[in-house]
Amino acid sequence: MDLGISGRTALVTGASRGLGLSSARALSNSGVKVCLVSRSTDRLLAAAQELPDDCHTIASDLSDSSSIQSMLKEVKEIFGVVDILVANAGGPPPGNFENTATEDFLEALQLNLLSTVEMCKGLIPEMTHRGWGRVVAITSIAVREPMAQLILSNTARSGLTSFLKTTATEVAGNGVTVNSIQPGLHATERLTELYEDLEGVAGNVPTGKLGNPDDFGEVVAFLCSEQAKFITGAAIPVDGGAAKGLQ
Ligand code: NAD
Repeated sequence: MDLGISGRTALVTGASRGLGLSSARALSNSGVKVCLVSRSTDRLLAAAQELPDDCHTIASDLSDSSSIQSMLKEVKEIFGVVDILVANAGGPPPGNFENTATEDFLEALQLNLLSTVEMCKGLIPEMTHRGWGRVVAITSIAVREPMAQLILSNTARSGLTSFLKTTATEVAGNGVTVNSIQPGLHATERLTELYEDLEGVAGNVPTGKLGNPDDFGEVVAFLCSEQAKFITGAAIPVDGGAAKGLQ
């Protein structure tokens, strides 16, 4: 399927591996010029080898506002125009109400909420000016069903979802869509690091299987497509049916 975005430009963060890298690969397969962002130059260069076409890389730490600002300046110097933002980063550490300090919330909010706010502030005004843009944030199914021991992730990502929904309504008339995708369990390196028994983990998913990161990337690319122009303000679960609620 031709997504109608060949020649567009995309900034994909948290892109040295996992769901971010799969998203970048799917966009690149659709002819999009991609810039990958994560903290390590070496990992970025290795990730760039996995894309079908040449791409740009910028090392930046999304937990640091000044690093985000220089990254945004650099990507604009590279592309001139950034059409697509895929906002993603690693998750915050686990913890519950009792053992999580207030300062920990500040760090999690910076990484998993404010970094995306800053990137939206930096890129959406030019998208609305040009009358075309796509923002897709990778959040978590925990926005629908907050998970025990993940109080930082639950809190930051719910706030981000609300920010995105509010922003989507404001810019919808300017050809800019703003959505999030909520991953359930996907077979990324991160999951392999977290769990020894991946098959046991997959047993808790109604499909009986973990998600394939490449399939996830295709969903991200579709949301960035021309055909997806009427999808905005949505928070879409990609979770093999794991979330139990109606919404
Ligand atoms: P991952 O840990 O494999 O990849 C995270 C990426 O973000 C890496 O490229 C890493 O280098 C980069 N990153 C981390 N901290 C960064 C920082 N401070 N600045 C810049 N880049 C940074 O994660 P994943 O499995 O691909 O998941 C992506 C997102 O989706 C994460 O936020 C994760 O919590 C969330 N999520 C994943 C799953 C899953 O099953 N994989 C489920 C629910 C939610």
